Amino acid sequence: MNLNALKKKLIAEKENLESELGYIGEKDEERPGNYNAQPAETDQVGFRDEVADRLEEYDERLATEQPLEARLRNVTDALERIEHGAYGLCNVCGQKIEDDRLAANPSARTCKAHIKESGDRA
Ligand SMILES: [Zn+2]
Repeated sequence: MNLNALKKKLIAEKENLESELGYIGEKDEERPGNYNAQPAETDQVGFRDEVADRLEEYDERLATEQPLEARLRNVTDALERIEHGAYGLCNVCGQKIEDDRLAANPSARTCKAHIKESGDRA
């Protein structure tokens, strides 16, 4: 397992996620890693359709924001585990996570046998 390569991938993914989240929301300064979806800005409100559009977009932003935040948390956790030398161990059984699983998903938290328990993408 090439830890440096995985770390690079994780850092790149973290930057990606942060920029996507930065687009749909504002960083929550009091809760690191959390973002608050913001309604799209318009200069004036006054037309019913426009309000409906804005609300719809806000819903979409909220729906997009939460999975991105969850991924960001996983990636941040994985980077922390690398720093502490605890990277690549299954959260459920404590065994080493398979190399090919980590290569496909560097922020994986469980071995293949325990994918279901983790709620991770495979
Ligand atoms: Zn396991």
